[in-house]
Amino acid sequence: DEDPRIHGIKNRIRVVPDFPKPGIMFQDITTLLLDHKAFKDTIDLFVERYKGRNISVVAGIEARGFIFGPPIALAIGAKFVPLRKPKKLPGEVISEKYDLEYGSDCLQMHVGAVEPADQALIVDDLVATGGTLCAAINLIERVGAQVVECACVIELPDLKGREKLSGKPLYVLMESH
Ligand code: AMP
Repeated sequence: DEDPRIHGIKNRIRVVPDFPKPGIMFQDITTLLLDHKAFKDTIDLFVERYKGRNISVVAGIEARGFIFGPPIALAIGAKFVPLRKPKKLPGEVISEKYDLEYGSDCLQMHVGAVEPADQALIVDDLVATGGTLCAAINLIERVGAQVVECACVIELPDLKGREKLSGKPLYVLMESH
């Protein structure tokens, strides 16, 4: 039942042990980008899922959501909105803090970029604890828009990030343990 393209995509993701610190198995998608077929298959799978579903905005999470989000937005006819780390966006912003293993981080969005009538797809490369996606969902919902779904290439299901998304659907191409 799994799409045959997913195997090829999985094969192009490099797993780097102990990066950026001991104990982390880093899922490196830059090797996927080097393979035109695998990169295109990745975008196509998302586009096939989301075209015709009235999504008006793709919100991409810094930094790797900026790689996968825009080609999806162009193909489904949606605008693209970057959700950025603090002090990167020059206009008026709203902010959502979220907890990390050590300390906290923050995502910001330009005021006015997403409007109450918007139907949003949130895109990132990977969901681990779900904290980042949760902050992204809160940003979208705070301006009165709807989150249709969150989409990532990879899920680390052992970290149960899916449970942190307050019931929002999460779609991933593959799991990694
Ligand atoms: P989390 O908020 O815990 O779900 O972490 C997700 C964010 O951290 C995403 O933006 C990922 O790009 C990054 N991330 C977390 N763990 C990994 C990992 N093992 N490999 C690559 N990126 C990761």
